[in-house]
Amino acid sequence: MASRINIINKLAKNRDLTDEEFLRLIYPACSFVNRMPGEEGSLDIPGRIEPWTENEERHLYLKARETVEKVYGKAVYLRGLIEFTNYCKNGCRYCGINKGNIRAERYRLNIDEILSCCNKGYELGFRTFVLQGGEDPYYTDEMICGIISLIKSSHPDCAVTLSIGEKERESYQAYFDAGADRYLLREETSDLKHYHFLHPDTLSMEHRQNCLYTLKSIGYQVGAGFMVESPGQRPEHILKDLRFMQELGPHMIGVGPFIPHKDTCFAYEPQGSLKSTLHMLGILRLMFPEVLLPATTALGTIDEHGREKGLLAGANVIMPNLSPSDVRGKYLLYDGKLCTGDEAAEHREGLVRRVESVGCHVEQTRGDHISMA
Ligand code: SAH
Repeated sequence: MASRINIINKLAKNRDLTDEEFLRLIYPACSFVNRMPGEEGSLDIPGRIEPWTENEERHLYLKARETVEKVYGKAVYLRGLIEFTNYCKNGCRYCGINKGNIRAERYRLNIDEILSCCNKGYELGFRTFVLQGGEDPYYTDEMICGIISLIKSSHPDCAVTLSIGEKERESYQAYFDAGADRYLLREETSDLKHYHFLHPDTLSMEHRQNCLYTLKSIGYQVGAGFMVESPGQRPEHILKDLRFMQELGPHMIGVGPFIPHKDTCFAYEPQGSLKSTLHMLGILRLMFPEVLLPATTALGTIDEHGREKGLLAGANVIMPNLSPSDVRGKYLLYDGKLCTGDEAAEHREGLVRRVESVGCHVEQTRGDHISMA
């Protein structure tokens, strides 16, 4: 059986592996303590389950850094995250702002508040603004387009990224025509049973995946992704996500650890681990040398230096919070979410120092996807 080091080398060279080989990289990183009800455990095939050695980890991260640096050098791109509404019509079981959480204190930002976040961000050096929110029908397509046009006319040198969930093609097209550049929509999982374990029956995996293809065909730079070690997640599910992403060809991939939220039905599920998330980042970097890969806030939440470690494992984007300080604590997707430390956009100095502590530097540009093809 090939050693894990050989498999890493093969991935670095070919950008692809057999299912068996991928599973050998994924398996030991997964705690897979949590199973969906009625599910058998995976067969613990010998050789798949031995934990990673430090040497193997170091090798993966080294290869991943080498790979990202060939495309992006040591640049780290910042995205200013504006969480403009925590109202949501969906009931995703893992999410703290799901519609069933009656304890969530709801808020919405108006167009002036959103623009002033961008203005503040621009002063601080941000050249990408990410508008994220629950799926909130209060904001009509017309309003969203109005917000996009206003930001683009005030800051023509900036990119606008949307992360507002599943819509129909006409809406995505209208946002794009209004000037939106990018769209983040994690597929969350590519296994049908797992999808329905995480989501209510009103949502469909097919629709979510189709949204990503639609966005891409319109011309957006698209971001897919999933949570690491979400409840019920199996190594085989992650493998399906990797295959899905190979087919989709996303420009960005967001992966962060699952973190439980106390007012959801997954309150007592274990959180995803630092190691599994770092392994995932390394694997994704080797598969997709050109992809924009954030070291997520969730990663920074489970470990004080999580984001720096993420950069060392192949990530090259950080998304500090630009939301007004009085609402930051309310956009609680999970417990303990970072919101007042170095991840806050106004603490840019601290963030710059963190990035520099791992030998990278912050680049003050839009940070578009680079294609080497
Ligand atoms: N409504 C938008 C934005 C969702 S929030 C959409 O549907 O795309 C952004 C991401 O946060 C989600 O895609 C999910 O992967 C992640 N997230 C939600 N709850 C989480 C939790 N408990 N732990 C970790 N990540 C979570």
